[in-house]
Amino acid sequence: MQPNSIAQLKTMLDGMLVEDDPALVRRKSRDFYWYSPVLKRLLDEVVGDVVVTPRNEAEVLRALAAAHALDMPVTPRGAGTGNYGQAMPLAGGMVLDLHAMNAVGEIGPGYVVAEAGALLGRIDAATRAHSGQELRMFPSTHRTASIGGFIAGGSGGVGSIRWGGLRNSGNVTRLRVATMEAKPRLLVLEGDEIAKVAHAYGTNGIITECTVPLAPSYDWVEAIVAFDDLAKAAHFSDALGREDGILLKELAVMGPGLGRRYFSQHGRFLTGDQVSVLVMVAPHSVTAFAAFAARHGGAEVFRSDRLTDDERKTLPPLFELTWNHTTLVARRVDPSLTYLQILYPYPDHLAAVATMGRLLGDEMIEHLEFIRFDGHVVCSGLPLIRFTTEERLDAIIGLFEENGCLVFNPHRYTLEEGGMKRSDHGQLAFKREVDPKGLLNPGKMIAWDDPNFDFSSSRRYLFSQPAA
Ligand code: FAD
Repeated sequence: MQPNSIAQLKTMLDGMLVEDDPALVRRKSRDFYWYSPVLKRLLDEVVGDVVVTPRNEAEVLRALAAAHALDMPVTPRGAGTGNYGQAMPLAGGMVLDLHAMNAVGEIGPGYVVAEAGALLGRIDAATRAHSGQELRMFPSTHRTASIGGFIAGGSGGVGSIRWGGLRNSGNVTRLRVATMEAKPRLLVLEGDEIAKVAHAYGTNGIITECTVPLAPSYDWVEAIVAFDDLAKAAHFSDALGREDGILLKELAVMGPGLGRRYFSQHGRFLTGDQVSVLVMVAPHSVTAFAAFAARHGGAEVFRSDRLTDDERKTLPPLFELTWNHTTLVARRVDPSLTYLQILYPYPDHLAAVATMGRLLGDEMIEHLEFIRFDGHVVCSGLPLIRFTTEERLDAIIGLFEENGCLVFNPHRYTLEEGGMKRSDHGQLAFKREVDPKGLLNPGKMIAWDDPNFDFSSSRRYLFSQPAA
């Protein structure tokens, strides 16, 4: 970047919050990339040049117009909880920090409108108070992540056992998106158009406002059911996920000893090498759930509705032990652990779990998240892996793939190598239209940078454009 660009930017954005304090810029240039020893090595020195914090849509448009005029890269940032290095400004330039655009707007039957920087937990609190409704799904970073960052960088989470993922039509209703042009425009995307910016790491426009669907809210009961081996726990969970009359919000399996070893508060409810199944169940389903667990030989070792108010206050929400929080809490105890993100192949997912357990032995501690995927209950895996070398990590990924699993490689920072988002001609054409200079989050989309990119790859992706 030209040395005087920051000074010019400050002049052009007079009256807006533009900061270039090196410590602040470094902090806002980071996300949870360090979960991966590979990304830690590759991205540790990545830093932007300036942080711009717009307060409204008009300021977003001003910031983008100025960056376009100065040929300055722009990397949007929600709360920086992404764990694929998505929010890291590989080419420097401007970090566009959306956190001040956090208003929760209109709430109606089955929907909420919120500014992109609004935190998911705050949206949920507002919709609950307004009309007893809640977000269908959220990442386990409910308290810390923004709605715009979730849609642009996440995939699903708590609630996915009932509602599927962000990839599914209907789980995002409408987006307002700012383009990166000399005169930035505001687009309204609905229906299939949403796929153009969903999970695109902000390479295809800046989301300013999101409309997402709501479901009736419940005071979810948290429960832990213990088993003496993984296969029994996995079969129980698979059956529970398919038991249509029991309403669940979360269903996860933690491999032998994981809970006891790494859950600082809830670990005391488990013993030794027990496998634990973590569940959030609606209050009206609790009796049926307890009977179902007993019938499958599970020992109910924890129920939040049996605690006193004081006891409950000492515990984190159970969902903060699930999804990528499992990795976080385990790494606090053993920083040599890393992880993978897997989709086990339906309908043979339980057989594949067993096979991978046999192949990897003590190198892996299994962590399964049961989800609805295109109408079926299947399990995704976020196994903890004992890291030795990058070569061995790649070999482990190869083993999963050879056994029919889809790997979303959290040790790569590009969209395509991460494996969730397919870049296709439509995606690229949209980028040419909305970001002709390629200034949005540069370096994250191989199809943009590599003229020889192979669009014909037969690899399966989580987010594909809807077929024409
Ligand atoms: P950021 O990290 O700030 O950004 C994510 C991506 O979106 C970046 O590429 C950024 O450039 C882009 N972006 C941000 N805002 C905008 C915008 N307004 N317009 C366009 N692009 C934008 N993910 C899940 O899907 N499910 C989980 O359960 C889950 N659990 C997690 C648990 C932990 C402990 C951690 C560390 C991560 C977890 N994640 C999970 C990943 C991450 O928390 C989520 O994807 C989260 O929703 C990201 O939100 P954010 O506001 O922090 O986004």
